[in-house]
Amino acid sequence: MSDGISQLERQCLDKGMRMTEQRRVIARVLSESFDHPDVEELYRRAAKVDNKISIATIYRTVRLFEEAGILERHDFRDGRSRYETISDEHHDHLIDVNSGKVVEFQNEEIEQLQRKIAEDLGYKLVDHRMELYAVPIDKAN
Ligand SMILES: [Zn+2]
Repeated sequence: MSDGISQLERQCLDKGMRMTEQRRVIARVLSESFDHPDVEELYRRAAKVDNKISIATIYRTVRLFEEAGILERHDFRDGRSRYETISDEHHDHLIDVNSGKVVEFQNEEIEQLQRKIAEDLGYKLVDHRMELYAVPIDKAN
């Protein structure tokens, strides 16, 4: 864990959010997570830093961050909400349905095509979400 202020904490402060020590810990854990953790996993990571943090606090805090528009929630169809910080770089997700592994990707052709579909329907695209559900190709056959 690095010292100083995490990126997410900076965003919280910019939004005028009151930052308790536990919120700072959770913000830091989220800022340093690049694997779309769920609440249970965030709890494990935060508890290593502060063992007085409860899972209820994690739930409340991720909801607060989400409502403030600084945290994105994903539902990758495994019954658990996953979280990631919102970055400037847009990316989409491929979910390995066997292992649950989440792979991030960017594809400019798809981005353009989505804009075109919206335009053809008389709309300007402002956001989208794309999730590919896949199994690994068995290269042995
Ligand atoms: Zn992602």
